[in-house]
Amino acid sequence: MSAHRPERRALHDFIARHQRFLLTTHINPDGDGLGSEVALGLWLRSQGKDVRVLNDSTVPAAFRFLSRTLALEAFEPELAEQAFNEADALVVLDTSNRQRIGRLAPLLDRHMVAIAIVDHHVSHTRGFGQVNVIEPEASATGEIVYQLIRESGGEVTHEIAEALYVALMTDTGSFRYSNTDTDAHRMAAELLGLGLDPQRLYAQVHSHASAERMRFFGEVLSALELASEGRLVVLEAAPEQFQKHGLSGADTDGLVDLPRGIAGAEVVALFSEVEPGKTKVSLRSTGRVTIDHVASRLGGGGHPHAAGVMLHASRAEARAKVLPELTRLVDGLTQSAEPARE
Ligand code: AMP
Ligand code: MN
Ligand code: MN
Repeated sequence: MSAHRPERRALHDFIARHQRFLLTTHINPDGDGLGSEVALGLWLRSQGKDVRVLNDSTVPAAFRFLSRTLALEAFEPELAEQAFNEADALVVLDTSNRQRIGRLAPLLDRHMVAIAIVDHHVSHTRGFGQVNVIEPEASATGEIVYQLIRESGGEVTHEIAEALYVALMTDTGSFRYSNTDTDAHRMAAELLGLGLDPQRLYAQVHSHASAERMRFFGEVLSALELASEGRLVVLEAAPEQFQKHGLSGADTDGLVDLPRGIAGAEVVALFSEVEPGKTKVSLRSTGRVTIDHVASRLGGGGHPHAAGVMLHASRAEARAKVLPELTRLVDGLTQSAEPARE
């Protein structure tokens, strides 16, 4: 399999050449970043490698169960220095954008550590590693990790399977988004065949919302706006709303996905002004237009149908930078291509 993919071969060689691995993923880590770390880490350990995982951010409650088998440490200056001093190789998972590893990024300039990237984002496809396994056709980074383990002849243990299933389930929106394909379902079937309980894993990930978070979602959703005859859905969250409910930026996770179900919605845009003058823009397409270029033009990135960017701007300024382009995109859809509606 890897014979057709020179970068995968290069990654297998990279792993063989190094001994002390440090793994990391993007800020505000998700199920794919964390699941990929755990799966890759456990597999490397089974090969006698030293493994440590260090991320910019702490692990959200939903994914804490993954750290039963492998410690997932969060950035602290001394801890990070020590981790980089110990390591001879860094593997960056689920992002190929240097800025997205947060406070670990500046350490790359001071430490001579070999870098490999394993990612599936369409933006930044060049990567910043010596080895860059970047495969945008993969539904999740976990899918690439799974294939790497399989093609090396390694054993997918129950713990590895669980971490990989979480990666795949979360990045496909539980097998609902446009990145869900036969490979994703085949992989899920193979993992379930190892004895996983899909209902339990779903519940483990999706039973951590607080009541305050639901109230916040409700508030934001009740103020949703429709533009371009309902093809564009716009949501806004103000700094006072985050404050009032005692929430942070990471708490908006999942919010932008909810209005996708509105009949006729093509694109959903969420403008979260986490603190005054700092707005996280989250974009989703229901499948007919691609939106990653809108985010990457402003310094962010993502996938064709799910992308984001953090802007040093107010909500109003962020809207002005993003909405005209989204409007053009959804208005450019021809009437005839629209699915029939009642
Ligand atoms: P989100 O809206 O945060 O759920 O992100 C949607 C997708 O866009 C995910 O695949 C993210 O990895 C990616 N993404 C979000 N924010 C950024 C950013 N600032 N830079 C690059 N990619 C991003
Ligand atoms: Mn991710
Ligand atoms: Mn991912």
